Amino acid sequence: MDILKQRINEEGIVLNNRVLKVDSFLNHQIDPKLFVAIGKEIAARFKDAGIERIVTIEASGIAIALQAAIEMDVPLVFARKKKSILMTDDVYHSVVYSYTKEENYDVTISKRFLPAGEKVLIIDDFLASGEAAMGLAKLVESAGDTVEGIAIVIEKSFQPGRERLERAGYNVQSLVRIKAFEDNHCVFMED
Ligand code: 5GP
Repeated sequence: MDILKQRINEEGIVLNNRVLKVDSFLNHQIDPKLFVAIGKEIAARFKDAGIERIVTIEASGIAIALQAAIEMDVPLVFARKKKSILMTDDVYHSVVYSYTKEENYDVTISKRFLPAGEKVLIIDDFLASGEAAMGLAKLVESAGDTVEGIAIVIEKSFQPGRERLERAGYNVQSLVRIKAFEDNHCVFMED
């Protein structure tokens, strides 16, 4: 997605050749028009997949997934992150290790908002080690749903996330794939 690459080149800040900060349009300040375009692109990539529900994770996934949900005309539910919770019977949950925060947290979705037997699309902002997406996929499957695909805005292809998800059989669609960070700049994969 060329407009996304352009924004990353213009405004992205690479920290220690490890983490990409895109706070000016994706993770803190949000560019509404860019998000509409992202939603359309995700919807186009999954238009024949029969998606019935979108699942994402708070906080940054929500605004991205909302645009896709509007385009695809399906309900959207976001998983909540909690450091540790008193587990109750009315939620599905999964444990995820946070790459940026370097700690484990629980992700939960109320059973009321994840009915069984649906085709689900998972959406997140970044793909790095695949922990968050894998945790969401397991959670969705524990509800008796099928993960039809995983849509990611920015993939760091030099980390093992995509390989891990594909090995588990998931269809991963990333709008931008970063091959490497070199001297704190992004090198993109060819489309
Ligand atoms: P994973 O679980 O695949 O290791 O990492 C994905 C999650 O970590 C995303 O939801 C995102 O919040 C965060 N993350 C991983 N790498 C980056 C990065 O380079 N920049 C930003 N802004 N977030 C990242």
